Amino acid sequence: MENKKYVYLFSEGNAKMRNLLGGKGANLAEMTRLGIPVPQGFTVSTDACLKYYKNGEKISEDIIEQINNSIEDLEKITGKHFGISDNPLLLSVRSGARVSMPGMMDTILNLGLNDVTVEKIAALTKNPRFAYDSYRRFIQMFSDVVMGIEKRKFEDLIDKAKGEKEVKYDIELDENDLKKLALGFKKLYEREIGKPFPDNPKEQLIESITAVFRSWNNPRAIVYRRLNDIPGEWGTAVNVQAMVFGNMGSNSGTGVAFTRNPATGENKIFGEYLINAQGEDVVAGIRTPEPIAKLKEDLPECYEEFINTAHRLENHYRDMQDMEFTIEQGKLYFLQTRNGKRTAQSALKIAVDMVNERAITKEQAILKVEPRQLETLLHPAFDAEDIKKAKVIAKGLPASPGAACGKVYFTAEEAKKHHEKGEKVILVRLETSPEDIEGMVAAEGILTIRGGMTSHAAVVARGMGTCCVAGCGSISIDEEKKVFKVQGKEYIEGDYISLDGSTGNVYGGAVKTTLPAVSGNFEIFMKWADGIKKLQVRTNADTPKDAKEAIKFGAKGIGLCRTEHMFFEVDRIPAVREMIVASTVEQRKRALDKLLPMQREDFIGIYEAMEGNPVTVRFLDPPLHEFLPSEEMDIENLSKEMNIDLQDLKATITSLHEFNPMMGHRGCRLSVSYPEIAEMQTRAVIEAALYVNKTKKLNIIPEIMIPLVGEIKELKFVKDIVVKTAEEIINKSGEELKYQVGTMIEIPRAALTADEIAKEAEFFSFGTNDLTQMTFGFSRDDAGKFLSYYYDNKIYEFDPFEKLDQIGVGKLIKMAVELGKKTRPDIHLGICGEHGGDPSSVEFCHNVGLDYVSCSPFRVPLARLAAAQAQVKNPR
Ligand code: PEP
Ligand code: MG
Repeated sequence: MENKKYVYLFSEGNAKMRNLLGGKGANLAEMTRLGIPVPQGFTVSTDACLKYYKNGEKISEDIIEQINNSIEDLEKITGKHFGISDNPLLLSVRSGARVSMPGMMDTILNLGLNDVTVEKIAALTKNPRFAYDSYRRFIQMFSDVVMGIEKRKFEDLIDKAKGEKEVKYDIELDENDLKKLALGFKKLYEREIGKPFPDNPKEQLIESITAVFRSWNNPRAIVYRRLNDIPGEWGTAVNVQAMVFGNMGSNSGTGVAFTRNPATGENKIFGEYLINAQGEDVVAGIRTPEPIAKLKEDLPECYEEFINTAHRLENHYRDMQDMEFTIEQGKLYFLQTRNGKRTAQSALKIAVDMVNERAITKEQAILKVEPRQLETLLHPAFDAEDIKKAKVIAKGLPASPGAACGKVYFTAEEAKKHHEKGEKVILVRLETSPEDIEGMVAAEGILTIRGGMTSHAAVVARGMGTCCVAGCGSISIDEEKKVFKVQGKEYIEGDYISLDGSTGNVYGGAVKTTLPAVSGNFEIFMKWADGIKKLQVRTNADTPKDAKEAIKFGAKGIGLCRTEHMFFEVDRIPAVREMIVASTVEQRKRALDKLLPMQREDFIGIYEAMEGNPVTVRFLDPPLHEFLPSEEMDIENLSKEMNIDLQDLKATITSLHEFNPMMGHRGCRLSVSYPEIAEMQTRAVIEAALYVNKTKKLNIIPEIMIPLVGEIKELKFVKDIVVKTAEEIINKSGEELKYQVGTMIEIPRAALTADEIAKEAEFFSFGTNDLTQMTFGFSRDDAGKFLSYYYDNKIYEFDPFEKLDQIGVGKLIKMAVELGKKTRPDIHLGICGEHGGDPSSVEFCHNVGLDYVSCSPFRVPLARLAAAQAQVKNPR
């Protein structure tokens, strides 16, 4: 048997051991090291989780032995005994991955209780009600988490008990009621499982640890990982900790608090707690908690100790902390601390404030904001005029800021379904639970009726940057009937409401939303990021409007202007179609002559909007059939409009049909077949640049980009047309104009022969949409239909069209960079596929030495920050 250590007492670890002990375990160890009161325990490592999966989902004997040894150690530390004794040790079992995944995995409390130990606890605490309440909670959690028995079945028994006693609240059930309930729960367990409830604490423990390991791969954890770039191969650790009880009367309690406000960033302790309650009551939002300041009145000494320790923890970790604590009969314990999740506004304020407080450097501050969060700041606020007319129908807690307007849906499935149809949806729930994650992702906003600022809905919405109003108690909801009622009016599925996550206001009907400006802490922070980053950030924009927007968000040029988007506009499509159906070169040239002035105007608009920043214009790319109608009626109309015989037109359309258009007659192949197209586009680009340079006194150096090149000779063929046309125009104008001709690297063959290609190309821009499609050999338009099977079977963890596949596609990019630089050391390198706006892909681009990334306007701030973070992590 190997000798490897898999289980660590809290006193054996520290904060640096996060990968092995998980975030929670490492921090519990660190708090222990710092002498902060932590209920003692041990961590079963992430390595043990990986071994569990390798071992066919079974915990191996050597690990069980180490767990048993640690229990003995814990018995010595606590002076209690795990099993039958007068002083029984009860445990909590919690998951703890390398990064926190709130609510994604499972927790079991009060482990170690059975029919005997419950009596001992009752005697010891002189509080039988508490003992039986703990017991019934444990049976319920174990049955749900470990054995998968539906929670509802237990809730039904509780409701029945309350009904028989004619009381409304759980708290009104006495020790005898709870004792009966525990018995009923055990019977329910036996009926469901076919075996009695396990009385042996060691068996309970191993089963529970197994359940936590198993929960690493539950569907909601897998979705969460995909959304947050967390690899499945990390595994989770399990923390086993001596229980402390917040439900031992009025000098006990439990709470959650942040060292700064997670919604606004205000530098003031923010939190909630409940007297006489267990942790899950706060997080689950079942009872509405009190603000932390009230603890000062209830238990002043605990409050002071709490505040002092909270400050100490923030100073120690140099970040805003999110802490869970429990007070057991006047004694304060910290159950966990971690860097707190926060809204984008809060993240920026905390980062800027902490630099100003000299607690951290700018480089450290840069790492404290999630790039993806910045997108949320660019999301809508209410239109100032429209909101004046809107009617507030209810007010809840401002749980996650922003404005949202959409149609009401009552289940996560419906929210997801309607979102996929293109509707804007608001998810309305009594309270959310981790199963709702996909609906929450789909929603513009989330409204819950129950729960506080640290309820599941609030925490998850803030993490995602989704607007959320929580705990809106004045609304009465019937989730089954899919209706909510407020102020005497009913709202059903599909009705519009609007939410203000910054005030907690709920508005009946739709309120228009607008985009906010970049200012304040956001602006200060982004300036720091720009000062640090080495990668330039450009944007993909095809219109002057998008270009202006991107400049506002900090883009320093256009990395991809897709010229075909201009062709689809109503005033151009007739000429485009005329060009396509032309049967002679002359006819085609006539059609192109009509397009030339429009294209020139487009480029003039874009150059002016970009104020002298570089602009890369990509020549016509899509297969031509995309410009032609497919419906019979439209074809008939077109034949009349163009005065072409219907049958001839149909024959032309049929001749353009391709079995695999994305691999067909598109990209530079169009210019090889019809050089006139490249000629016209060159003319438009060059004439526009000459005009703007002259009239606006700018020095635009147009970058002409030839798409879909796979062979040096085809690039040369098209480039020759471009150069010949451009030189003629420039010479004739008598002006000076520099320009560049480069290519996209989006076909694997181009990457493989990049040294050759670089002989002609002055720049490369990686078109990772096509490069991914062609490297994987699956269509970017169809992969969505089957990728979910790949996630379910853990073949892929993420969509390679969203997040760059660094292993395969990345290898081609690296190779092309190296080969390209060998031929042309000063070759300019960028990326313009969707990955240019994905944080981990931006980091990859930095690491392989690209000069810029280009992404959609709304992702520009995100890319700027991701580029700065990449530089801090890996300076170049
Ligand atoms: C690409 O393929 O990555 C690209 C940017 O071009 P398009 O998406 O227009 O094919
Ligand atoms: Mg492409």
